[in-house]
Amino acid sequence: MAKCAYCSTTILFGGKRNGDLRFCNDKCLQGGSLAIAATQLPASEVAVYVGKVHRGSCPSCAGPGPVDVHTSYRVWSALVMTQWSSRPLVGCKSCGTKRKLGDAAFSLVLGWWGFPWGLVMTPVQLGRNLFALARTPDPTTPSPALEKILRLHLAAQAVEGRGRLPAAPGAVFK
Ligand SMILES: [Zn+2]
Ligand SMILES: [Zn+2]
Repeated sequence: MAKCAYCSTTILFGGKRNGDLRFCNDKCLQGGSLAIAATQLPASEVAVYVGKVHRGSCPSCAGPGPVDVHTSYRVWSALVMTQWSSRPLVGCKSCGTKRKLGDAAFSLVLGWWGFPWGLVMTPVQLGRNLFALARTPDPTTPSPALEKILRLHLAAQAVEGRGRLPAAPGAVFK
């Protein structure tokens, strides 16, 4: 059975093709093409760009860096329905902390009200936020997560036909 090269979902019917790769739909095809383009960017250019963003000022609050990926977690429920997500933020430590506390509060209020997943996922997402608050990225070097996200940004820009590194790294996240 074929699997989507982007999201790994098993493809039952149809799907989209790009060479030897198969995707569920146009959205995954696009994401997948970007992911492929992202891995093919020249390592030296990526390293320079990642270093600039890491040492630059925060794209969210314009405060001082280091800038890295801070992931927060939220969940909300409505009776039989529960949705949860991981939300990566590129920003400074204080923006990351604010987002994690905000998403923890959001989940604490809105997470529980679904059965059974609200009851299961609310403690999980709260725990993930606590864990994420306790563990901040190493301030001296950019994390692999930051490089991955920035590679996707660069690839997206190349695909849009600009094909050049942006002058102001922060501008990408606006
Ligand atoms: Zn897919
Ligand atoms: Zn900030």
